[in-house]
Amino acid sequence: MRSLLWKVSQIQPKKALIPYLTAVKYHENKIDWLLEIAKEIKTDKNIPLTLTALTSLKGIGRKSANVILREAGIPAEGIITDLHVIRVAPRIGIINPTKNGLKAEKELMAILPKEIWNEVGMAISFLGREICRPTPQCDQCPITNCCKYFKEN
Ligand code: SF4
Repeated sequence: MRSLLWKVSQIQPKKALIPYLTAVKYHENKIDWLLEIAKEIKTDKNIPLTLTALTSLKGIGRKSANVILREAGIPAEGIITDLHVIRVAPRIGIINPTKNGLKAEKELMAILPKEIWNEVGMAISFLGREICRPTPQCDQCPITNCCKYFKEN
């Protein structure tokens, strides 16, 4: 069966995708990448399901690949590490402060059991989006009892 992306790529591709992706940041670039991927993989059965193969596709970094593997129910090869995780995990005190996503992910992988890799990155990311904002809302946070920042401030 042809993938939906491949079908879309056959009919005024960019125009067809714009209404679905206008709310996404940098959607023009992302639509180009999606179409390039659709042309490359051609059918659903060719969608790669390893971190290495996914990150070889245009526009797919480790974070996106980890999200795709999680959504596909594949055992995790890494931990979803976005800007929220990079900000929040050092505040909690489980990794050192860094601006480097790969370094943060590797530190998380070194200390957290593999069984929770698929869930923990998403959980920390949501905590960062909703509560542990750049200005943390500690009065609403469910993990004050194990947070280094909370204990020190
Ligand atoms: S207690 Fe405060 S600093 Fe710690 S994770 Fe929660 S919101 Fe962030």
